[in-house]
Amino acid sequence: MSDSKFLSSPEYNEGFDFPEGLDNKTTGELAKSYKEIIIKLGENPEREGLADTPIRIAKSMQYLTHGYRIKPENILETAKFKEDYRQMVLVKDIELYSMCEHHMIPFFGKAHVAYIPDGYITGLSKIVRVVEAFSRRLQVQERLTVQIRDCIQNTLNPMGVAVVIEARHLCMIMRGVRNQNSKVTTSAFTGAFLNHPKTREEFMNLIGAKIS
Ligand SMILES: [Zn+2]
Repeated sequence: MSDSKFLSSPEYNEGFDFPEGLDNKTTGELAKSYKEIIIKLGENPEREGLADTPIRIAKSMQYLTHGYRIKPENILETAKFKEDYRQMVLVKDIELYSMCEHHMIPFFGKAHVAYIPDGYITGLSKIVRVVEAFSRRLQVQERLTVQIRDCIQNTLNPMGVAVVIEARHLCMIMRGVRNQNSKVTTSAFTGAFLNHPKTREEFMNLIGAKIS
C-alpha cells in the first residue's frame, strides 16, 4: 500500500479516533524515523509482520501523546457552574495510562481526585478529562499528580484539592529491576486537605489508600 493511501485508510485509524485527530505530515515523518529505528535494532522492516509497523507506531504515539494538544484549563473553564455545595466531591478510581518520560514505556493505574467547592463546581466527567489530558503526555508520576491538582485549584478556586495516583511502571517491571508487584503512590494537596488532617483523613479513608 502506498504511504498516502495507508495514511487515510480508516482501518489503521481504528482506536485512534480522538478529537485532536492525526496529522498526516507528522505521521509520515514519525513512520520514517521508526523504520530507521527498526533497522538499527537489527530487524528487517520489509518483512511481512513489520511492513506496516512504523506507520502504526507513528499513529499510536500521536494518540498516546495527544494531551499536548489539549489545554486542560479550558476543559474546566468551559464547564464551571455556580453552586453552593460545600462538601467534598470525590472522583475515585479514574483509569490512568501514561508514558514515563525517561524510558517512553507506559505506566498505568488509578487516580483519585477530590475537591471542596467554594462557589463553583464542574462536571464529574471533566475531572476525568483533565486527568486524561495530562496523562497522555511524556510524564513522571510526581509531576502528573501536581499538574492535575494545580489545574483544578487554579480554575475552580475551591477550598481544597486532593490528588492521589497509584500506578505500576512497566519501566520498573520489564527492565532490569524486576519487581512485579511494586506500585508507586504519589499525592498532592491544597487548602483544606493540606491544613486539616481530619479532611485529608476522610479523603484517604474514602479512597482506601495508605500513605505514611
Ligand atoms: Zn521509566
